[in-house]
Amino acid sequence: MAFVVAIDGPAGTGKGTITKLLAEKLHLINIDTGAMYRCVTLECINKGISVSDENKISEVLEKIDIKLKHDNGRQKAILNGVDVSEDIRSPKVDGEVAKFAALKIVRDKMTPLQREMEKDGNIIMEGRDIGTVVFPNADVKIFLDCSLEERARRRYKQNIEKGIQTTYEEVLSSIIKRHKLETEREIAPLVKAEDAIVVDSTNMSINEVVDKIENIINLKLKEKNNG
Ligand code: C5P
Repeated sequence: MAFVVAIDGPAGTGKGTITKLLAEKLHLINIDTGAMYRCVTLECINKGISVSDENKISEVLEKIDIKLKHDNGRQKAILNGVDVSEDIRSPKVDGEVAKFAALKIVRDKMTPLQREMEKDGNIIMEGRDIGTVVFPNADVKIFLDCSLEERARRRYKQNIEKGIQTTYEEVLSSIIKRHKLETEREIAPLVKAEDAIVVDSTNMSINEVVDKIENIINLKLKEKNNG
């Protein structure tokens, strides 16, 4: 059986970077499930389909082909054969994705696809519901937290670096909105699994967080190998 590490938490906690570094260090396959919800959202935006049109979304889901590929440690998102790794990070997708991700039809399609990925080997999967819904029996469950203000500050800095024009206030307001949608939605809300270990990254550097989680994973790996 594969070894599964689940990393859940809200946007802007450094989850993506931390998961990528842990995957490299521990030779685990890195899976960013947010990219899958972003692909669905991008496809619907491109086709002019609104979040209230479940019939059309359902048609999109029937045909959609999402592949997560790894290229030099970087995950690429391939949507219907096209590399959309950049497009799925646009502010437009940022603004819509939590609404599409809240739909039952969307989650019913994505969750089984994510479960299947365990077949490929030992994985570290990041998202919102990995430890609660996708892999409730994961070997390690981490809930990565961070204050809303610090999350907005980090996302704002990333935007500036990428040349995306936004103000800190706009980023904070978008993060607050997304947080509300994610934590209050009916299906698979963002909540800490009962048995998850909370790591609060507000006052920690990326390396400190990576070291802390690496120690937790190594302990579990040892236990698993001895048991
Ligand atoms: O992690 P990222 O910000 O890229 O995720 C994009 C969106 O996808 C999140 O805002 C969330 O609404 C949704 N998501 C989810 N469940 C996951 C991963 C992401 O609902 N497991």
